[in-house]
Amino acid sequence: MGTRCTIAAFHDDEAAVDRAVTRALAEIARLDAMMTTWTESSEVSRINAGAGSGDVVAVSPETYEVLDRSLWVARESGGAFDITIGAFKGLWKFDQDNDGSLPRRADVLARLPLVDYRGLSLDPQLHTARLAKRGQSITLGGIAKGLIVDRAVAKLRASGLQDFLVRAGGDLYAAGRRGDRPWLVGIQDPRAGAGQARSADTSFALVSLENSAFNTSGDYERFVIQGGKRYHHIIDPRSGYPVAHTRSVTVLAPTSFLADTLDTAVFVLGAKKGLDLVARVPGAEAVIVDSENQVHVSPGLKDRLQLTRPPTDAP
Ligand code: ADP
Ligand code: MG
Repeated sequence: MGTRCTIAAFHDDEAAVDRAVTRALAEIARLDAMMTTWTESSEVSRINAGAGSGDVVAVSPETYEVLDRSLWVARESGGAFDITIGAFKGLWKFDQDNDGSLPRRADVLARLPLVDYRGLSLDPQLHTARLAKRGQSITLGGIAKGLIVDRAVAKLRASGLQDFLVRAGGDLYAAGRRGDRPWLVGIQDPRAGAGQARSADTSFALVSLENSAFNTSGDYERFVIQGGKRYHHIIDPRSGYPVAHTRSVTVLAPTSFLADTLDTAVFVLGAKKGLDLVARVPGAEAVIVDSENQVHVSPGLKDRLQLTRPPTDAP
């Protein structure tokens, strides 16, 4: 998944925790191998290699589920979420390939016509996938981690654990309780540390969780600053450029898959349309920090969210 994954558990039998964590990590590795674009052998890389050939690629049930959900959120968001932004691979380099360089505008614009989720066809009976045009490419970076975290959670529960945290990059799932109280998590201040010494607590809000996913996507995670402008890893499929109107999006949902499905889409949609989307999805709540540093909270979360201080205002 190109990120650090940590698991923390409360339990009185350390050996049982070790066994459970080993099983969960094996499940993460198994799913990552199917969905990554960093190996040629993954199912996703094979779909990309066959783009425009007319050939279909058979995929696992899990990859199919992620592709199917990707098309659902692409439609729900009017194309703000679009996994065919994979076409920008090698131009926008914010993952393992981050070397601080930025693409030429002409190169971005040349690939923009390849970005269109409607070019991805799925067969629900045969569990196959196909990309219409040569050069089209998908990336599941904005959504796969969520499903993978849920599967790790299921392995931990099946191994007898009830109280634990699973974190993979900005995706977090909190199961059960932290001893005698619910898990308490903070939302990262997008500009924490700007112009001042980084303090230990870099959050601007707190929320308690019990059996809930909590995902944050921010423009501060993977970025390059050049000419005073911030370029980061969430791309607006309409322009081919990083989204400028949002600093961070946090989504709470019953599953990590749902939270991850929504966070990137809401980031691209911006506060107003993003909250409209969240309102249409039962069980989902969101906190958005926009580029003016305004904090937007979905109605269902207002009473639960504890704002500890305003987020730092810096460019
Ligand atoms: P994280 O920051 O935890 O990786 P996100 O869920 O926000 O989480 O995913 C960001 C990733 O999503 C990017 O690295 C990229 O691979 C992918 N991505 C970026 N923009 C879009 C988009 N408009 N639609 C779909 N996926 C995107
Ligand atoms: Mg996401």
